[in-house]
Amino acid sequence: MTALAVHIFGSINLDIITSLEHLPRPGETVMAMATARLPGGKGANQAVAAARMGAETYMVGAVGEGDSGSWMLSRLKADGIDVGGVAMLPGVDTGTAYIAVDSVGENQVIVVPGANARLRDARPVSEGVLLAQLEVPVSALLPVFAKSKAVRILNGAPAVQEGRALFEHVDILIVNQHEMAAFLGLESAPDNDDMAVIAETARGLLRREDQTVIVTLGAAGALAVRTGWQLHVPALPVIPVDTIGAGDCFCGALAALLDEGVSLEEALPYATVAAALCTLGQGAAPAMPMREAVEDLIGRPATEHALPIKNRSAASLS
Ligand code: ADP
Repeated sequence: MTALAVHIFGSINLDIITSLEHLPRPGETVMAMATARLPGGKGANQAVAAARMGAETYMVGAVGEGDSGSWMLSRLKADGIDVGGVAMLPGVDTGTAYIAVDSVGENQVIVVPGANARLRDARPVSEGVLLAQLEVPVSALLPVFAKSKAVRILNGAPAVQEGRALFEHVDILIVNQHEMAAFLGLESAPDNDDMAVIAETARGLLRREDQTVIVTLGAAGALAVRTGWQLHVPALPVIPVDTIGAGDCFCGALAALLDEGVSLEEALPYATVAAALCTLGQGAAPAMPMREAVEDLIGRPATEHALPIKNRSAASLS
């Protein structure tokens, strides 16, 4: 088994989380019971998930030159992530998400994109896996997706409509049900229990015969579809502490396994177990599980299924 690398193009945010009795109404001031500063951003979260799954992980993104940016880079480096592709930009703030959580777990999030909006000049990836999300400009991602020879995975989150321009250039598109509905212009997502309807709806996002769309379904697991094929993988039953970052964990873990040459069918159960484990810890990046915890639960190492490197390409996904 020889892995190449997972190249993550995405957002790097500082998450400022406040715990409140109730969320403020317009014009209201409320006192927080506790506050925490945690690493976040979909790109950074997915990078941590991939690295903890054992992938050699390269992060491409942008932070501001100040303390927040340095702190985020130190957090990523602590997980062994190569941050050589992260620009430190003068005169710009690091992306910041202000998250308020009330006593019943309801939340409000305000994201200030900061340096993430300045990501430019990203280079195509020739091998391994490319993984991106939509918290950085689509204009920066488009040339990378159009020219990369790596397995190209797009997590269509958040459901930024311009992101549809990337769909023809992806090998695997990962969305949750709400994102799927938003990209298709539907008012609501189909019911979780009707896999045939979800599969048919998801096929509306396919642009080529050799593409795969994966819809994550929360506690109902994940459904992968291609033309004439589908696979539903149930979730590991857990009682979540919080589901923040579960989708990011799924994407990062899946990317790491595909990079090793594990087939999509074999990788999906590992990614769903990793994502379920992520719901058992607080926050996003800090809750990403280590590979051993995932393999222990499944009962065998994922590498038993790996393809030799010469047989690996986007085509071998099917
Ligand atoms: P997002 O976090 O993007 O909204 P989902 O809620 O669909 O995405 O979660 C992503 C993945 O995390 C799911 O496919 C599933 O494998 C896992 N997951 C999420 N919530 C739960 C849960 N309550 N129990 C078990 N697994 C979960």
